[in-house]
Amino acid sequence: MELQFLGGASEVGRSAILVNDRLLLDYGTLTATPPQYPVGRVDPEAVVVSHGHLDHVGAVPALLSGDRRPTIHWTPPTAELARILAKDTLKLHGVSASGARGGSKRRGRFGGAMQCPFTADHVARLGEVETRHGYGEPFEAAGHEVTFFNAGHIPGSAHVLVDDGETRLLYTADFHTDDSRLLSGSTARPDADVVICESTYANVRHEDRASVEQRFVETARTTMWEGGTVVVPAFAIGRTQELLLVCAAHDLECYVDGMGTRVLSMLRQYPEFVRDSDALAQAARHAREVTGRDGQRTRIANKNTVIVTTSGMLSGGPAMTYIPEIRTNPINRISLTGYQVEGTPGRELLETGRCELNGGIYPVAAQTALFDFSAHADHDGLRAFLAAYEDATVVMNHGDSCAAFAKELRRDGFDAAAPGLGETVEC
Ligand SMILES: [Zn+2]
Repeated sequence: MELQFLGGASEVGRSAILVNDRLLLDYGTLTATPPQYPVGRVDPEAVVVSHGHLDHVGAVPALLSGDRRPTIHWTPPTAELARILAKDTLKLHGVSASGARGGSKRRGRFGGAMQCPFTADHVARLGEVETRHGYGEPFEAAGHEVTFFNAGHIPGSAHVLVDDGETRLLYTADFHTDDSRLLSGSTARPDADVVICESTYANVRHEDRASVEQRFVETARTTMWEGGTVVVPAFAIGRTQELLLVCAAHDLECYVDGMGTRVLSMLRQYPEFVRDSDALAQAARHAREVTGRDGQRTRIANKNTVIVTTSGMLSGGPAMTYIPEIRTNPINRISLTGYQVEGTPGRELLETGRCELNGGIYPVAAQTALFDFSAHADHDGLRAFLAAYEDATVVMNHGDSCAAFAKELRRDGFDAAAPGLGETVEC
């Protein structure tokens, strides 16, 4: 089997692996200014997508340009998330969903500055070439037998098992071994000769999930009791719904705003891809949806309540309306709920107590803390997963310290490697 690493090799973002020059696993973007895409020009017969995050699916519509029509295989939630993300990407580039470029008022954040790698037409073509699969249902893709297994990362996320008749490859993609309220953790450990394993948190040990939740709830209650507002920036996919489940379970009054609301209603159509669909339905009823009409956000920002809103790293979305409203009062609270990438306003806020808001940099008096509701396995989770693959060849990707983790594995008797960008591995 030949594996070509077109992205996500010793980096986080733009995941793309070409198998035997025919089958592409993921085709993502690296969020930066400007965004970056996998290297090389590929023309695969089929594409298998592990999950609906931008760094795994963000560039997939670009594979449908000209007369290229590779079959796209994914789970139903991944198919829906791919469309939501693609439409959002078009919007950021100032292109409306119908394909028209906006005037100067509707140029979007990237409008005019750079070219979107795909058009609304490419997004519409997804429907012509896609095939949806559940977990544990083998299917054929570009001459390979492929099977998805629950990866416990976001709804619809999959480990991808690829068999070319000689070699069985397990591509873990992003995964979590612990249960959350939204999802069951990954438990499948199918036989494999080669494992491509993510390593986002290879250097991290997560705080116990129950104690993270307890701290989150207690601090929110204290703030509300003191008369303050709690703004909870959360990623739209997975994290927003997880936080709504937490609020419902602890009877914390909450509002929900931003793209996470759309993802929530989509997920309710696929109850088999969440851990407890009744709990999710109850959480959806418990949260009050913000429409954003008639100054509603400004009014809510002055209530004693919890507001779960995008974006998770304060780089846009309705959070940018709430933070200016609440920032000057030290009774108020900003509870960040995920990793804050360097260079984002969320990271800046944590490190300096100041935040870039709508072009200016302002001090924030509101209390700020980070709660690690991670959706990835940490160092010990990765090692526990790989314990099932001591006899396999292990290839680390999707991390900032792939080489160091591969070295640790070799020290412990594994056959482990960490290829660089563009490198080809024969196995
Ligand atoms: Zn992911």
